[in-house]
Amino acid sequence: MRKPIVAGNWKMNTNLSEAVALAENIVRQLNVARIDKADIILAPPFTHLYRVSEIIANKHKLHLGGQNCHQEANGAYTGEVSAGMLRSLGASYVILGHSERRQYFGEDDVLIGQKVRAALENNLRPIYCLGEKLEEREIGKHFNVVSQQMQTALFDLEEADFRKLVIAYEPVWAIGTGKTASPAQAQEVHAFLRELIAKRYGAATAENTSILYGGSAKPDNAAELFDQPDIDGGLIGGASLKAEDFLAIVYALPCARR
Ligand code: PEP
Repeated sequence: MRKPIVAGNWKMNTNLSEAVALAENIVRQLNVARIDKADIILAPPFTHLYRVSEIIANKHKLHLGGQNCHQEANGAYTGEVSAGMLRSLGASYVILGHSERRQYFGEDDVLIGQKVRAALENNLRPIYCLGEKLEEREIGKHFNVVSQQMQTALFDLEEADFRKLVIAYEPVWAIGTGKTASPAQAQEVHAFLRELIAKRYGAATAENTSILYGGSAKPDNAAELFDQPDIDGGLIGGASLKAEDFLAIVYALPCARR
């Protein structure tokens, strides 16, 4: 059974006291009984990870995630943070290959694949982000693009390692733009990704892989997205910065509505 997951990517937002307030509000308001089957992940900026880890320590459904990591274990890489460092702060997940990393920091799938391996070696579960740009969708290339991304970054992993991954489909044209993929558009790509995984690793692994949707998900469109058969939750940017909105999205998971 694949796990429902909602992850909040706070990006480069919040100072320390705002991050503390946000994490405390989430902890105070989260009704764990409602999300028994799900994992909820908070991915604050690196500087706030340790403090947030202390705040969520006793909420077993809440997990800590990094927003990126370096591919090397340590060394002269000024300003960088390794997977092992994230793990030592209490992180259990790390977001890799986010489109903002690709666009502003020149990351490609070869590099992202190396980061995925570094994360796995340090017992972190990568949340691997992929998705097409607007111009690629407009010419109908979106299936080729996501297929190439999976192939280059992930498909030489052993099956046991691949099973530790979470995939996040994030059409670039929907991230932070207020434009959401329609549930049908998202479902079509999620089903395609699951089929690719099935071809490479078999049906059981495909069935067990959580594939999240990301791109302007909000309290008022989350349920419709999460009701699609191949959408297992969301990676949430802007709407994860308000505890009430983030939790409304968490409660839009089908398992929280039963
Ligand atoms: C994201 O950055 O992963 C994201 C989905 O952002 P937003 O929800 O703001 O579109």
